Amino acid sequence: MSRNNGRYIPIARPSIEDDEIDAVIRVLKSGMLAHGEEVELFEKEFAEYIGVKHAAAVANGTVALDTALKALGIKEGDEIITTPFSFIATANAILYQKARPVFADIDLKTFNLDPDKVIEKITPRTKAIIVVHLFGQPADMKAFKEIAEDHRLFLIEDAAQAHGSEFLGKKVGSFGNVAIFSFYPTKNMTTGEGGMVVTDDNNIARKAKLIRNHGQERKYYHVELGYNYRMTNIAAAIGRAQLRKLDKLNEIRHSNARKLTEGIKKIKGIIPPYEDPRAKHVYHQYVIRVTEEASISRDDLAKRLNERGIMTAIHYPIPIHKQPLYAKLGLDKFECPNAETATKSVLSLPVHPALSSEDINYIINSLREILS
Ligand SMILES: *Cc1c(COP(=O)(O)O)cnc(C)c1O
Repeated sequence: MSRNNGRYIPIARPSIEDDEIDAVIRVLKSGMLAHGEEVELFEKEFAEYIGVKHAAAVANGTVALDTALKALGIKEGDEIITTPFSFIATANAILYQKARPVFADIDLKTFNLDPDKVIEKITPRTKAIIVVHLFGQPADMKAFKEIAEDHRLFLIEDAAQAHGSEFLGKKVGSFGNVAIFSFYPTKNMTTGEGGMVVTDDNNIARKAKLIRNHGQERKYYHVELGYNYRMTNIAAAIGRAQLRKLDKLNEIRHSNARKLTEGIKKIKGIIPPYEDPRAKHVYHQYVIRVTEEASISRDDLAKRLNERGIMTAIHYPIPIHKQPLYAKLGLDKFECPNAETATKSVLSLPVHPALSSEDINYIINSLREILS
């Protein structure tokens, strides 16, 4: 007999309601399915929300990163410092430019890049830093802005997991020269697939819009090598509806996280997520660490929760520089012990807005029982 009483709690679930459905139907009926007015309105509303001058919508977060680096003019031989503890797209965007990713270690408490470790990696070839606001917690943007200014480096924010997150009262995505977002269905807001490049810089914005649409300045007049990275009106219509409820959804995530932390903080062998007091954490993921003091291993804990119908995930099981692709390219020789520790000890628990109070209590009680 299954011990989960028919319960199934997924690790992520998009919040789609009638307004998203109605918006899609409206676009379908209009006959204007590809890039058009919906996309332009979404860009305008998203830029306003983040507090930046420009936004360029694209097909997904990965091509948003590619577009951002191309718009900055990153080229072969340039070095870009980034984190080994992220989704692989962050570093792959550097490889797309034939530039060289340089990995600096993270702070184990926040899981974000450690500014001091980044400084150690700067060379005359360093052109940029890509910070990731991992799991919805902003990186230390005060420190990174200073480093970028002191060393004349581009600062790029990968905010794919941090829509609405703030540092010292200012939205992430508004600190760097350029920032990107993803609207994949597991993220804090979705368009199915989708991405956004945001910036205050007129020139970067102009370039990004050329790159995403075949370098086309006006109809069939192409001024540089571009691509088809466009977002559809269908996706943009979903995004506009999602943006209107983003703050509410983030509040639910935050309240779920607070309840989880209150419920599990006394369990031996578990470290609940840390919140930087300067930050507004939007809990894209709720990530605990399972230490050696726990009565069972991280992987066994995941298995036992799964048996109870509680889905978990490991974000991420391998540091990027240790991935076979990076080893093959000879890019695996970086010392990042904190990132290694994180990959071995992290476990993401459900925190999404569709959780009920019973779900949250069930997760807490299951952890207490399994680890007692
Ligand atoms: C999701 C994600 C991306 C890529 O976004 P896609 O829309 O899936 O291409 C990039 N960076 C980070 C940190 C992400 O979490």
